Amino acid sequence: MASGNLNIPEAPAIDGARPLHSGKVRDLYELPDGNLLMVASDRISAFDFVLETAIPDKGEILTRMSLWWFDQLSGLVQNHIVSTDVPDVVRGRAVVCERLDMYPVECVARGYLTGSVLGDYQKYGEVCGIALPAGLQDGSRLSEPIFTPATKAALGDHDVNVDFESVAEKVGDDAAAELRMLTLAIYGKAEEIAREQGIILADTKFEFGRRADYTTVLGDEVLTPDSSRFWSAADWQPGRTQASYDKQFVRNWLLSPESGWDRASGEPPPPLPEEIVERTRTRYLEAYERLTGQSW
Ligand code: ATP
Ligand code: MG
Repeated sequence: MASGNLNIPEAPAIDGARPLHSGKVRDLYELPDGNLLMVASDRISAFDFVLETAIPDKGEILTRMSLWWFDQLSGLVQNHIVSTDVPDVVRGRAVVCERLDMYPVECVARGYLTGSVLGDYQKYGEVCGIALPAGLQDGSRLSEPIFTPATKAALGDHDVNVDFESVAEKVGDDAAAELRMLTLAIYGKAEEIAREQGIILADTKFEFGRRADYTTVLGDEVLTPDSSRFWSAADWQPGRTQASYDKQFVRNWLLSPESGWDRASGEPPPPLPEEIVERTRTRYLEAYERLTGQSW
């Protein structure tokens, strides 16, 4: 069951690149040499809709953030980046990457309890087959980070959380163990880096693939607000929904009477007012600058 009217625009034509796939936010192309061109647009999604209003510079901010993280993680894992030398129309917001044979697993690490696994915890006391102690609340810090894999659903559907055994059945015991080990190691390092900047990395999703020689390589985008939950450490308070670092203005406005939008209607949300766009853009910039220590 599709959960939203995705409304993804057709990928813009780029000379010499063949469109392969368009997600909510990114467009993927194939290059003549067999590499991929991954383009981050300025699209933003909320409540499972791609909004009709774009956030200026978002694609470039997230691309630079992802590249910065790949660099931070280079001692832990190889990545798919080949170059940032891309066609002019997408300069700054695209990368050339190796085409990998992707593992069909969304490799999620969580250091805090929230989101899609909260309901499972409340019902069963466990998430993805991992038993957790009683008494945890929305936003509680876990005593140690956990691997909560998911399988990718069709475009527009929610991913399905699965246990480690299901991953092992899909990719084999050794690959499953490697994915778990890498996911937790990378999360651990990234969480530490973010914490030093006053940002909580509550959870994040990685995608890994395999080269022809069977090396496991980190692909996709990494540790951006689109693939992770960042919270301001100063505002963290378990027992309630934490404010989202990046999309809070958008969500609050859409849910406010001012937007005139009824979430239950199934109708796509209205365009965002200029003020919400600007505040959201500032949030993305702030996340970039705080994490990387670099000014935009
Ligand atoms: P959503 O918008 O919900 O994320 P999506 O996952 O279909 O939808 P994208 O994330 O934009 O859309 O798609 C990027 C696709 O590229 C994903 O299917 C991802 O697995 C794949 N991918 C990422 N890196 C590589 C790579 N190095 N080689 C091959 N495929 C890759
Ligand atoms: Mg994706």
